[in-house]
Amino acid sequence: MNSMKTGIMGGTFDPIHYGHLLAAEEARRNLGIDRLIFVPTGDPPHKKDHHITPAEDRYAMTLLATAGVLEYSVSRIEIDRRDDTHTVDTLREFIASGIKPEDLYFITGLDAMLSITSWFEYEKIPELCTLVTARRPGYPVSGIETLPKFVRDKLKYIEIPQFAISSTEIRERARDGRGIRFLVPHLVEIYIESNNLYKNS
Ligand code: NAP
Repeated sequence: MNSMKTGIMGGTFDPIHYGHLLAAEEARRNLGIDRLIFVPTGDPPHKKDHHITPAEDRYAMTLLATAGVLEYSVSRIEIDRRDDTHTVDTLREFIASGIKPEDLYFITGLDAMLSITSWFEYEKIPELCTLVTARRPGYPVSGIETLPKFVRDKLKYIEIPQFAISSTEIRERARDGRGIRFLVPHLVEIYIESNNLYKNS
């Protein structure tokens, strides 16, 4: 039997938006990933000084955004972890659950990936998974050449249609009452509005 490829979609998801979902889906299709697990960060060690929406709200929005997609699920693994949340620990936990490193893919944004050398025990990460990051078609990827070769050797790119959405922009639009319809899934829009998220951000 072929082994099952698992993609871990890591992000703060504050909030999750269609850019994340497009990147996830392109990664799934291009790499033949069988199941995709969204892993919202708990208390990100690199963002202690920023205001971040409570993990339970970010988790709820990620559930709403992915509900009904057969291949998608959402994990509480980082939200429920008491200590600081590190990608290397998350990957180790998935491997301990029986996934082989050759079947495990960690997908995240390019900017985040470019900072990987500052992550906790980052040099172990390429042994645990294949790294995947999204880029826009036709745009050169700058900065990747600064990463160590053993990281670059495990890095794959997926091209996503040009889709200039960011969580920062969505928070600003929600704060200013400029509307976020069609930037996030409808249920996420309703969740943000009914919980007054980002009004004071
Ligand atoms: P970030 O710095 O908030 O995001 C960097 C860029 O990547 C932003 O443009 C962001 O866009 C985009 N992005 C984030 N997640 C994405 C995704 N899944 N797909 C496509 N684009 C994405 O990064 P972050 O969200 O905090 O962290 C990303 C991942 O790296 C998380 O899984 C985090 O745990 C991991 N990480 C680990 C460590 C560590 O182990 N010490 C340190 C840093 C990051 P939006 O703002 O629109 O999302």
